Amino acid sequence: MKKVVFFTDIAKLPEALSFFSLENFSGKKVPVKLHMGEKNNPYFVKPDLVKRVVDELKKTKAKPFLFDTTVAYDGSRHTKTEYKKLADLHGFNMTNVGCHVVIDDSGVPTSIEGRTFEVADHLKAATHIFALTHVKGHIQSGMGGAIKNFGMGGVTKETKIRIHDSSYPTYQKGACIYCRVCAEICPFHAIKVDEESWEYNEEKCFGCGACVDACQSKALSFQDADLQFLLACSAKACVQEKTVIYLNELKRIAKGCDCDPNAGPIICPDIGYLLSDDPVAIDKASLDLINEIKENVFLTVNKVNPLKQIKYGEEIGLGSSSYKLIKL
Ligand code: SF4
Ligand code: SF4
Repeated sequence: MKKVVFFTDIAKLPEALSFFSLENFSGKKVPVKLHMGEKNNPYFVKPDLVKRVVDELKKTKAKPFLFDTTVAYDGSRHTKTEYKKLADLHGFNMTNVGCHVVIDDSGVPTSIEGRTFEVADHLKAATHIFALTHVKGHIQSGMGGAIKNFGMGGVTKETKIRIHDSSYPTYQKGACIYCRVCAEICPFHAIKVDEESWEYNEEKCFGCGACVDACQSKALSFQDADLQFLLACSAKACVQEKTVIYLNELKRIAKGCDCDPNAGPIICPDIGYLLSDDPVAIDKASLDLINEIKENVFLTVNKVNPLKQIKYGEEIGLGSSSYKLIKL
């Protein structure tokens, strides 16, 4: 059973890390994989927490650097130059954090479950990685945790686009009974159903899969696969055969993602920090702790069940959803 260490006081980080053989990172170039925040989003991981992690890595003589990838949509993180400027604006620089920032825009094709994912160059080259994840809601996957940090954040723009496009619904008219369930569940009003017509607006669709899951008549299916399955596969492409320590921050838990300037309200009180060497175990523990306080809050606010990425991650061997919680 995997260990997940839970602590609420960040001063206990060194003690929590003592469960995970940090000394093995000595001498290694270590990407600290994190999301450095979209412009105007207030919730992303803050530089003071990042500095604590960097300091602990440096104590082992590791050579950490902050790491993320460019995004497919226009904005402040679309190119390496723009993202580095924004990271600096958000306080991620040598002065505040004690290491430099690397942004990748290209990657190496890596095959998982019969599909190819382009893993960012610096992740592909690394043997040891530190994953620093702010846990929050997400409109397409219900929740964004460690799996999503790599599944979407560890790959190239081209792979990000392909993951999104592959999870759009396809419709089989012959199977449809016009029950309207899909239209009612779609968070973005992308489907309209009348007595004998079914209309879909791809412009409004975010590929969350809620309609596919809800259709009992099997009239809807994914163009390729569920977004959450592809996220788990993509995460596995990034971390397989590597030594990774995962730190999940359960604070400022908003409805939406750190890539959203309008991430919505805080939907759960601050909980604390989790540490593990398993992305599935740490995301399951994060979800369990949040559900203890606000039952099914991600499913309620985003209408997408975040448990799917955990289930898929376990099925493809990304990690284990069984864990032992050690409270410090
Ligand atoms: S849920 Fe399925 S059967 Fe019902 S209207 Fe939508 S596509 Fe048709
Ligand atoms: S995939 Fe999600 S956003 Fe797209 S139509 Fe279905 S429910 Fe709506």
